[in-house]
Parts: sequence; structure tokens; C-alpha cells
Amino acid sequence: MDELFERYIGPQFIEEPHNHKLWERVDRIPDLELWRIHQIRKERLIFFARKRLIRQLQRRGAGFAEIKGAEEVLSSHALTIGFARRFATYKRANLLLRDPDRLRRIILDSERPVQIIFAGKAHPADTEGKEIIRRIVHVASDPAIRNNFVFIEDYDMNVARYMVQGVDVWLSNPRRPLEASGTSGMKAAANGAITVSTLDGWWDEAYKPEIGWAIGSGETDANQEEQDRIESEALYNLMEHELIPLYYDLDRTEIPRAWIAMMKRSMKELGQVFNTHRMVMEYTDNYYIPAHLAHTAMDADKHKRARELAAWHGKIADRWQQVSLTCADDGGSEREIRAGQALPVRAKVNLNGLAPHDVAVEIYFGPLDPNGEITEGRTLRLEHRGESDGASIFEGSIPGVVSGRMGYSLRIRAHHPDLVHRKTPLWLTWE
Ligand SMILES: *Cc1c(COP(=O)(O)O)cnc(C)c1O
Repeated sequence: MDELFERYIGPQFIEEPHNHKLWERVDRIPDLELWRIHQIRKERLIFFARKRLIRQLQRRGAGFAEIKGAEEVLSSHALTIGFARRFATYKRANLLLRDPDRLRRIILDSERPVQIIFAGKAHPADTEGKEIIRRIVHVASDPAIRNNFVFIEDYDMNVARYMVQGVDVWLSNPRRPLEASGTSGMKAAANGAITVSTLDGWWDEAYKPEIGWAIGSGETDANQEEQDRIESEALYNLMEHELIPLYYDLDRTEIPRAWIAMMKRSMKELGQVFNTHRMVMEYTDNYYIPAHLAHTAMDADKHKRARELAAWHGKIADRWQQVSLTCADDGGSEREIRAGQALPVRAKVNLNGLAPHDVAVEIYFGPLDPNGEITEGRTLRLEHRGESDGASIFEGSIPGVVSGRMGYSLRIRAHHPDLVHRKTPLWLTWE
């Protein structure tokens, strides 16, 4: 794959994997060449899986026939689905096994066979994870399907490398919203595997119908059992109605053109965003450099600004308890405004001796959901207008851009330009 990239994308790809223009050149790779390379890598995965399976069977004391049979499991012509990860329970390695009869029908189709390669490892203390592995190993030893269903033990970087390079489909089905990221899918995508996943972690951000498949549409059911049932059915349906027909839609030269087109779109669109260069550059620009500059500025002149900030912290800590604010309008009742108009808001603040510039007074507002909770909340800073009856007055207005029920609330927070975090939990008071 590296050679293909070098030839069609160019040698600068190695230095600039975040360069969008370079990724567009994936389109220059001829379908036949990409498919040939993909097939070679799939065969490598199959050889690797057989070798590991034989070793596992020997270790388990399996019979001669079973070990001999392991030399011929899997086929380079079958649609190959990979699932590899730590078997933390929320990743639901067993979702695909919920309806064993349906799964068997899918993978044993003589015209359009499917094979599944699992790899995983459970934390030694994770009994449930280990139970899932036992279940998968049990299914994989069923003589009826063991040619199309393999479990590779001791998942590690080496196993992962063969897997992400050799499969057609990378399956992830974590239970929302527990997946932080799901980096293995990014590795698979860069290698040409197409992602099938619940809309969680990275896939919730990255998914588009033209680059892969989503299981469900991002709903979260309080009843886990019910959600597992619905999502496993959605997965079987996806396989039967979309993945398998697309993969086996071959042209005269026995090439799945539409599949390859999706592979290219997936590589191109995901590769240019989900790569480590882009990530490190964003960390550098947004965090490391500002942090470094802030440090230099605070440190200058015998730590002048650091001392000032420390003094300010002391002042806020002394006075914040008595800082309070009230809404000067008839809050609580509903008012009607027309779209395009603005709703003026006025806050009366007791600053308890702090200066107006020591605080930020803000409106938090947004459309209300049926429970009266603010959704898609935005904040807007109010301006200091002067003093009245011993209180400081802050004013602003909520733009009425969308129609429907809106809600708002007021808050005050301690504000200093040198604060690292805008919000300090104890120095934020809601009306
Ligand atoms: C990529 C990788 C992971 C992390 O994968 P997730 O999808 O983020 O869970 C774990 N183990 C190995 C060996 C990997 O290569």
C-alpha cells in the first residue's frame, strides 16, 4: 500500500499526511491495482490467521483432524469482516452472535460467503469479557462454520497490523456513548477497510453514507437488552441488504467496482482528517504554543504577571461567597417576541467590592425541549452599564433568530485575561 501511495500520491505523502490535496490523489490509483494489493494483503492475513489458529489448537490439545483442517480455513474470495479489540463489555464483541442461526445463514451462503475474523483480549479481572471470549471460541469451534469464523487469541499490535491491512470491513459496535474514540477504525480506514459502526466515538463525527455504514442512527436506549437486540438486527440487515450485495456486485473482470469506489472515498476522506499529524498540529497550535507563550509572559519581569494573577486569585477567594445576581426583568413568566426582534435582559449584580472587569456576566440561552431544559445552549456576555441602588447593572439582549420556545438563565463568573481556564467551578454562580 505504501508503494501505491508513493507512486500515485507522491513521496511527500510521508511528510504531509494531513495535506488534503494529496489525499485527493487516491482517485488516481487504478481500481485494479488497489484491488490486487488489497487481495495480497488479505491473503497475508489469512496465512497469519491459519498459523495462529494451528498454534492455538495445538496448545489446547486438539485432535489431528482439527489441526489439519485449520490449514484450510478462510478464503481469499470471501467478504472478510474484522473485529479486533480489548473485550471491554461495552464494545459488545458478541453483538454479531445474538442470532446464531441468522449469522450462520449469512456466512455460509455458497454464492456470497462471508467470513469473520475476531481477535481480542480481556482484562484478567474482567469476568464478563472473558465469558464473551469463551462464547466466541465456542462458536468458532462449530464444525459447520469454523472455516468462516476464526478467533485469534492474544490480540496485540502485530495481530492488529495484519487485521487492519487485510480485512474488507472493520466492524465496531460499542454501546453508545461509551466509546471515547475507537482508534482501530482509523487505522483500518487508512488501509482501505470500510467501517461499519454504531454512531459512537470517532464514527459519530466521521460517518457519511458514501464512506461507510452506520448501525442505527445514534439513539440511546435505557434498556440495554432492547438496544442490543435492535442494533444486532440492524447489523444483520445491513450485511444482508447492503454490504454483501455491494461486495459481490462484480463487473466483467470480476472486480467489485462500486465497493472499490467506496474504499477510495473512505481512504481519502477519513485519512486526511484522522491522522496523527493533524492531531499533533492542532495540539501544538491550540494548546502547546499558547501554553508556552503564556508561561513566558507570566514569567517575565521576575514573574510580574504571575504575582498579579496570584493576588487577584486571593481577592476573588475572599469575596466570591457574597457575589450574587438577580434578573431585573420579570423573569419566570413568558414573554413573546417576533423572529428578528431581540429580547433585552438586565441583571442586577452585587459585586461585593470587586470591579466590573473582575467578572463576566452572561446569559445562557437556547431552545427549550419538552421538559423545559435548554438545548443547544449559547452564551452571550452582558455589558456593564453603571450603578443603581448599590447594585451594578449589566445589560444585553437575546437575539430572536429561531422561532419556538426559548429559555435563558443568567450567571456570573470570575474573569481575568490570564486565567488558563475560562471557568473555575467554584467561581461561577447561577441566578
Ligand atoms: C489500535 C489498537 C487499540 C485501540 O483500539 P480502539 O479501537 O481505540 O479500542 C488497542 N490495541 C491494539 C493492539 C491496537 O492496535
